Amino acid sequence: MAGQMLDGKAIGSQIQAEVAEKVARLTAAGRRPPGLAAVLVGENPASRVYVGSKVRACASLGLYSERVERPSDATTEEVLAVVAGLNARDEVDGILVQLPLPPQVDEKAVLEAVSPAKDVDGFHPVNVGNLVLDRPGFVPCTPAGILELLRRCSVPLQGARAVVVGRSHIVGKPVATLLLREHATVTICHSRTADLAGVCREADILVAAIGKAALLTHEFIRPGAVVVDVGINRVTDLEEARRLFGGDEARLAQVREKGSTLVGDVLPTAMWEKASRYTPVPGGVGPLTIAMLMANTLAAYERRAGASA
Ligand code: NDP
Repeated sequence: MAGQMLDGKAIGSQIQAEVAEKVARLTAAGRRPPGLAAVLVGENPASRVYVGSKVRACASLGLYSERVERPSDATTEEVLAVVAGLNARDEVDGILVQLPLPPQVDEKAVLEAVSPAKDVDGFHPVNVGNLVLDRPGFVPCTPAGILELLRRCSVPLQGARAVVVGRSHIVGKPVATLLLREHATVTICHSRTADLAGVCREADILVAAIGKAALLTHEFIRPGAVVVDVGINRVTDLEEARRLFGGDEARLAQVREKGSTLVGDVLPTAMWEKASRYTPVPGGVGPLTIAMLMANTLAAYERRAGASA
């Protein structure tokens, strides 16, 4: 059985087009565009790439955006001052603090300083509480994107057995909460789960958010399950790539020519052979994360405009 791909890239583009259309309507009516500020502390190359793509996405959809940078030796107080400044500015609807922060900066204090009304990443305890209590608030972008993908691809959730591997605050826990909200029967697994393969095999919907290359293999997937692979892991070894991707020549060529390719937390050949539907890596969950950040920024604008009307 060959599984069908859930095309996160296409659905991410669809969501972005919907946001762009609403923003165009706002600006055509003479209103200011929604605005997002990204706070980047230090020189982490991956963080720079992520912030760059978020700022570019804003520009392409007509949103206002700005990047506020501080050096890698910035203190907690300096970063808190940046956040306080952005909280106070009317044209900034959403604030994202790119993680990880350098070790000397108190991440918890910084995330809690972001106004819950501008917390488009959904990391503030107030928004975490709102999510758990089924109240309106901001939902973290990756989990929100996963649910949007499942909804738009008409994957039945009510009554489905969902297994989420990973219990992070950013992915695992909020995804499990959202699936529960949709009336799935949810099990959360982690590094100390006994018989992980056996639990995973019970899943109609299997979500992998672990951060370990191809950890979930054939024996973890029930035939016909829907598999959502959140993991992003880099593979640089050609023999390893051959083991993971079988005869997928394009992937092997990537390793030969560019030095690496990406793999998720699920063995690709296992997903292709056993799942009925699956998200590829890359091109699955990743594009939805950015799309939901744009959607959350528009929502923050609308709520703030509503609150001040
Ligand atoms: P974390 O490291 O915060 O959490 C990983 C989770 O996996 C933990 O709960 C851990 O368990 C669990 N885990 C680790 N090893 C095992 C194991 N051997 N068996 C079972 N469970 C295990 O990662 P994140 O949630 O932040 O990210 C997960 C992955 O998703 C990463 O690859 C990351 O790059 C990717 N990601 C992708 C995004 C996207 O846009 N596509 C966005 C965010 C993340 P325990 O709690 O017991 O330690």
